[in-house]
Amino acid sequence: MALAEELVVEGCDLRAGTAEDALDGGGRRVGPVPAHVARPADTESLARVMAAAAERGLTVVARGRGTAADWGAPPSTLDLLVDTTGLSWIDHIAGDLVVEVGAGTPMRELAAVLAAAGQRLSHDPVRADATVGGLLATGMSGPRRLLTGALRDLVIGMTIVRADGVVARSGGRVVKNVAGYDLAKLHTGALGTLGVIASAAFRLHPLPPALRVVTARVPSLDHGRRMLAALRARTAVPSAVELDWPANEPAHLHVVLEGTPDGLPARADDVCAALRGGTAPEVGEELPPGWGVLPERGTLAFVTCPPADALPVAAWVCEVARAVGADVRVRGSAADGALYAAFPPGTGAAAVAEVAAGVRSRPDCSLRVLRAEPAVHEAGVDLWGEVPGLPLMRAIKDSFDPGHRLAPGRFAGGI
Ligand SMILES: Cc1cc2nc3c(=O)[nH]c(=O)nc-3n(C[C@H](O)[C@H](O)[C@H](O)COP(=O)(O)OP(=O)(O)OC[C@H]3O[C@@H](n4cnc5c(N)ncnc54)[C@H](O)[C@@H]3O)c2cc1C
Repeated sequence: MALAEELVVEGCDLRAGTAEDALDGGGRRVGPVPAHVARPADTESLARVMAAAAERGLTVVARGRGTAADWGAPPSTLDLLVDTTGLSWIDHIAGDLVVEVGAGTPMRELAAVLAAAGQRLSHDPVRADATVGGLLATGMSGPRRLLTGALRDLVIGMTIVRADGVVARSGGRVVKNVAGYDLAKLHTGALGTLGVIASAAFRLHPLPPALRVVTARVPSLDHGRRMLAALRARTAVPSAVELDWPANEPAHLHVVLEGTPDGLPARADDVCAALRGGTAPEVGEELPPGWGVLPERGTLAFVTCPPADALPVAAWVCEVARAVGADVRVRGSAADGALYAAFPPGTGAAAVAEVAAGVRSRPDCSLRVLRAEPAVHEAGVDLWGEVPGLPLMRAIKDSFDPGHRLAPGRFAGGI
């Protein structure tokens, strides 16, 4: 019997993989061509096909819309690509400010359904086309993390299909239901190396009735430091304090305030007072264009540092990159010390390696290459740097996926 026939299970479309299946949403090659592609219609058929793959020792990679298919290292082998786009459903319990959603649901669709009920998942849509499962598997959060926490903090329950095809549930649909291990936190950001996320339940927030964005140019590093320190001392409670520093241009800070129209003017004045020093801050009622959206091309790195050092670290990244001929743009949450460094497409591996080594040598700083261009992979640039707890992570991998069949090699330490 041909292998494909052995993988035929109820409720799951199955076909042979093609060269197109090795491309990401933007048409770039991101890994091996899968032998087979399965598109389950629900959690049960996902479990069935995962069990069939386990029985035959096949390697498996989950894929939503493929907008982050080039995150981490390319998997070393790929027998079965599991397309999650059939797992698309939304169960909104508006009265409880809770939603349960299939992993293959596009975030854009979820946001529209919630907005119609005056609610939101407080997470900036870094890619409008991404699926909920893909967002969870990559585990990053956008600028508003400052106020409402990271995406994983908004998850109250998750259904996962394990490597052996068993369905595992963690948490539930009730905000207080938190008994047992919090498995959702393990799967968030694991890049699909521990299991396939089938669905998740999230706590929601009411849509804020009004918004103000205070934007100020950062005239110098010293000024910028004073601005951020003054902001920390105020009571305006921003939802986001976002730094945007394009290559060879001045840096700007965008401070987002959300709340009632009556309270916002005074809070915006408070923020303006903190940001004084350069040109007068501007107050707008809309988010800047491209808010939170990360560039779709080029090598992209995530830098963490003590919040008080966000500006000097960003300046230093730009400077080191410029010295090796790369025009890096740095943006991210200055108040959280969580920054993204975007290298223009075609930036050489040596420049990426230089910036990475430099950031990692600074006290309390880390740099992780989220998405690397092929030349960066080929040059063997270390994407992760030192990963604390790697032995524990290996033990967890061994326990969740003993055959190392889920996205093999994608995660830190070859996990
Ligand atoms: C460089 C980069 C930075 C990002 N930063 C942010 C950010 O700051 N804030 C933010 O909110 N989002 C961030 N993301 C998330 C991203 O922008 C996408 O929105 C999202 O991850 C892609 O969803 P997708 O459906 O296209 O997933 P895909 O590209 O199809 O999959 C992404 C990864 O998750 C795995 N995967 C997909 N579905 C599942 C599943 N159901 N179970 C297990 N594993 C699965 C895939 O194998 C792959 O490794 C970032 C992504 C990238 C590439």
